[in-house]
Amino acid sequence: MDTQTHIQYVKGIGPRRSAQFQRLGVETVEDACFYLPRRYEDRRALKKIVALQPGQLVTIIGEVQMAGVTTTARQKKKMYEVTVSDSSGIVTAKWFHFNAKYMKDVFQKGRKVVLSGQLQTNQYAGWGKELIHPEHEILSGDQEDLIHCGRIVPIYPATEGLSQRMIRGTMKLLIDEFSSQFADVLPPAITDKYKLIPLAQAINNVHFPDKPYDNLDQLNQNASPPHKRLIFEELFLLQVGLALKKQGRHYEEKGVTFNPDGALLGKLQSILPFPLTGAQKRVIGEIKTDMSSPHPMQRLLQGDVGSGKTVIALAAALIARENGYQAAIMAPTEILAEQHQLKLHHLLEQLELRAALLTGEMPAKLKRAAAEQIESGQAQLIIGTHALIQTEVKFARLGLVIVDEQHKFGVAQRLTLQKKGGQGENIHPDLLVMTATPIPRSLALTVYGDLSLSVLDEMPPGRQPVRTHLRYDKDREKIYQFLRGEVGKGGQVYIVYPLVEESEKLELKAATKMYEHFQKDVFPELNLGLVHGRMSANDKEQVMQAFRRNEISILIATTVIEVGIDVPNTSIMLIEHAERFGLSQLHQLRGRIGRGERPSHCILLAQFPMSVDARQRLQVMVNCSDGFTIAEEDLRLRGPGDFWGTRQSGLPDLRVSQILRDAPLLEIARKEAFSLVASDPHLENHKPLLSAIEHKWKEKLDLLRAG
Ligand code: ADP
Ligand code: MG
Repeated sequence: MDTQTHIQYVKGIGPRRSAQFQRLGVETVEDACFYLPRRYEDRRALKKIVALQPGQLVTIIGEVQMAGVTTTARQKKKMYEVTVSDSSGIVTAKWFHFNAKYMKDVFQKGRKVVLSGQLQTNQYAGWGKELIHPEHEILSGDQEDLIHCGRIVPIYPATEGLSQRMIRGTMKLLIDEFSSQFADVLPPAITDKYKLIPLAQAINNVHFPDKPYDNLDQLNQNASPPHKRLIFEELFLLQVGLALKKQGRHYEEKGVTFNPDGALLGKLQSILPFPLTGAQKRVIGEIKTDMSSPHPMQRLLQGDVGSGKTVIALAAALIARENGYQAAIMAPTEILAEQHQLKLHHLLEQLELRAALLTGEMPAKLKRAAAEQIESGQAQLIIGTHALIQTEVKFARLGLVIVDEQHKFGVAQRLTLQKKGGQGENIHPDLLVMTATPIPRSLALTVYGDLSLSVLDEMPPGRQPVRTHLRYDKDREKIYQFLRGEVGKGGQVYIVYPLVEESEKLELKAATKMYEHFQKDVFPELNLGLVHGRMSANDKEQVMQAFRRNEISILIATTVIEVGIDVPNTSIMLIEHAERFGLSQLHQLRGRIGRGERPSHCILLAQFPMSVDARQRLQVMVNCSDGFTIAEEDLRLRGPGDFWGTRQSGLPDLRVSQILRDAPLLEIARKEAFSLVASDPHLENHKPLLSAIEHKWKEKLDLLRAG
């Protein structure tokens, strides 16, 4: 028997208990040992009932005096009432939702019980002390109670049918038997440097805290030395895994060795209507270095909306072109792909680069023609949507894959496009992933830990800050006046409607209706346009072109304009039902304005009812314009799992760490992990560490590789 043994085979557990644990995600002994308490209760010196103050979180031990179903004095609501006393006083516990049979079994007269909850007083019952829906535990009155009281006691995330007492008992049994088998795999130099206690001791103490690790506050904040030891271990192993991966790929995968010093880059700079920003120059330099290496580039480019990522993509594509390879840019929407093509068209012509556009909604004939150009190599730059990754599409010689607005794609889609590279030559194309969703550093280190990171941290000059206002229905008339005034001065306006996929049809109808309403009733004197995702590509493009030419003053749109759209003359965005949008979506939308000379305004029009979360999100938008701060807030409000729609993000399952809470430890773990792998690239001197990583992260790391 070892730490990998299924707990059902451990003496004293058995199949039934083990099935219950399975629901908590616990199968093996190891799983159990890393299933940490959600909080701790100090039951060493419990206060007497008489000394308890109302409003406090309290834990008492006492004996059941009376128990049974009764009704509330005033509203006659049914409840289960249990009175418990110690030698000093009485507390009444009440449950309004209960299973009478279960309660009767548990709260038998004379039994010793532990109750914890917030103490209240009842003015209708002589200010008696009450606990509403307290957590409860039965003591057996024997030796075994020593696990459950008289000490700091762990409280676990529980599940139906599995009481705290059962979980704790099982944990005690497992930990006593197995904790000594957890060997330390961390290099001693690191455990010494950061004063990390041995793993076995950490496991013991994190479940059953003992001196000197009995500081209750530290324990409850997951900041005790035993917690730190476990968290560090988990993050360090992950980071060593990422470091191995990054460097393994570096040595083992064959890529194209591009010569980055051709004439086209210089030519590009000479025909651009603006000088590159310092940040753009720096990032292009980083890309040149990557592309000239014999191994495939794996680079993530982060830059807030409007920071100028498109030029960078073009620069990379030019390097591929000069070396006789094709480059593909994959964009998440038709509109965006078309806009890329449209905007680049002029530049591409001067650079003598032949481009092809391939999107799903193109007429079959055009699509076939594009596919032919791609396969024959006639097309050198291919711009498209996920239609690019369909199996029929073959590339003559794909050397560079650029994924724009990465967060809109799933892991699998990215992988497929990359696999289309260098057919026949067994070559991995270079990969440049671009995202405007600023990824908080802690998340980037975890999810994209094996990619190199470039950050465009400088906006092109002359941008106007966008002022953001939170408004309500009552303000409509004033808002309309404001829009009218702006249009009168030659400006343009977006009005954005939310579009939730589940009710797409309904909402489209709403957007269409609003468009008609605005055109007929509100702005009859102006030219309005409407775009949404269900329109044919052609219709969409017609509207967008008219808008670009300022023949349309107000564009009503669903969130299809969320990414990439660039019409600098637009200075006002009115977002309807702003309370329904997520933070990063609002930030993306807002990024569409403030791109030209005009002072820009974003008006968040919120409707009631509004959740507390929604109110917080809108407040963040009003107060804050920096994408990274917004992303951190978003991560904090939603939690990492939901940050991009869970599983797609490739976020590894962390058992004991939380990347936001543990960001400082993550940084240390990252630094140490990468320096270890630099000094011992195959971990030949750290064999136990290597096998621990393989055991823990093998599958997950394969997933992460998609970037
Ligand atoms: P994003 O990073 O959001 O994809 P874009 O590449 O679409 O940003 O660039 C936004 C706008 O800024 C475009 O109109 C582009 O032409 C312009 N732009 C890009 N780089 C610069 C620069 N160095 N100076 C001035 N304008 C620039
Ligand atoms: Mg862009």
